Amino acid sequence: MSAGVGHAWPDVAFPEAAKDSLKDEQLRRNVRHATDVITTKRGRVTGELEDWQALRESGSAIRAHVLRNLDTYLVQFEQACTAAGGHVHWARDAAEANAIVLGLLEPKGAKEVLKIKSMTTEEIGLNRTLASHGIEAKETDLAELIIQLGKDKPSHIVVPALHKNRHQVREIFSREMGLKDLGDRPEDLTEAARQHLRERFLSVPVAISGANFLIAETGGVCIVESEGNGRMCLTLPDTLITIAGIEKVLPRFRDMEVFLQTLPRSATGERMNPYNSVWTGVHDGDGPREFHVILLDNGRSEILKDAEAQQTLKCIRCAACQNACPVYRQTGGHAYSSVYAGPIGAILTPQLYQLQRGSTLPYASSLCGACYEVCPVKINIPEVLIHLRGEVVREEQKTLKGKLGPWNLGMQAAAKIFMSGDRLELAQQLGRMGQKPFVGGDGFIHHLPMMMSGWTQSRDMAAMPKESFRQWWEKREKGAQA
Ligand code: SF4
Repeated sequence: MSAGVGHAWPDVAFPEAAKDSLKDEQLRRNVRHATDVITTKRGRVTGELEDWQALRESGSAIRAHVLRNLDTYLVQFEQACTAAGGHVHWARDAAEANAIVLGLLEPKGAKEVLKIKSMTTEEIGLNRTLASHGIEAKETDLAELIIQLGKDKPSHIVVPALHKNRHQVREIFSREMGLKDLGDRPEDLTEAARQHLRERFLSVPVAISGANFLIAETGGVCIVESEGNGRMCLTLPDTLITIAGIEKVLPRFRDMEVFLQTLPRSATGERMNPYNSVWTGVHDGDGPREFHVILLDNGRSEILKDAEAQQTLKCIRCAACQNACPVYRQTGGHAYSSVYAGPIGAILTPQLYQLQRGSTLPYASSLCGACYEVCPVKINIPEVLIHLRGEVVREEQKTLKGKLGPWNLGMQAAAKIFMSGDRLELAQQLGRMGQKPFVGGDGFIHHLPMMMSGWTQSRDMAAMPKESFRQWWEKREKGAQA
């Protein structure tokens, strides 16, 4: 298997993209407000469960077990789904997944399809592919509809339009739906979306969905959601196509007991999602006549090979790490230049694309550990971030530019200096002398020149003290003896 392909977003380095986001005061206010609300609700509903930590342990153990036995469970899922009347397709990458979807749609002459929110289809750029073949993909999730009508990009896994407030949503709906007198109360906006979508639910014969979980034991597929649009998409169209990453599989139906408690609490601060749909194959007189599942790899097998980083695939896309992350809360999601933003995006994106994109993302973290604290499947994101930073450096060192780059040379010099007490002493003396022209009256260095300027771009550095700890200690010892 190879690196993932098909990413529809330009790959802008995080420090550059973050600069634009940080200038947008409205965006930052929206993101802070929304993440505060969700985080508070999450704290309340997780705090009321005495076995919350045990649930996290169970979730982590089940997902780790799945990853160790992924081949077995995927084949079991395929057999069970097929026996129930479904069709299972395997896609190595985005190009294959898109080709499979087109191959299913074109014989039907489909010109329009309904979609229920799916990060996986965003990952493979499905809407763009469909559009290039004259097929319109209509998003039915409220937040995705806002994004689609606003010609925007999702910025959050669970609440893709989290960066927009209701006044901005009103403007988009009013303009795109031709509703001049539309109010900006939540009920006005949801009613407008309902009217906009209802006719399509009843008339469009094909729907495309993502999946929260695939159940190996039964061949069932599960989606949890809050608006009921998913239930409409999963039941009304004649044909349903589900696209899911291969890591989404769970062994048994009863495993859902854990995740249907941890996912809604972590994602939206609810005890339970309003709509929990599980569908298995096709049934006379009930739901779609034709059901397809596309199992997507797109770089996941490569992640699985890396013992230190494979825990990334335990993720159940709850976005709790995004809401808790002090970096995400400042920049919002677009700065990550990826479908997957925040801490999970910082580890998933570079791995999916084997560092060919997103190589600055492992540095988009203060390593404070807030993401690890809230993760319902206990992914040690800081550990993976550090591992990936090592990978980035090792990759850079393979090139001449990387070898001779200031960062690499500086680190090599630092390593030599730290290996010897004498060398450290000498470096400190030289540093004290060299820093003099740059130290301000407040004892801080505000600007460093040339290749060191990056250090002071967004922080002030305390000047080196007049004497080192060793010198101070030596003096103290001598004083004590005297
Ligand atoms: S890494 Fe953990 S907290 Fe973040 S989205 Fe995935 S499951 Fe949720």
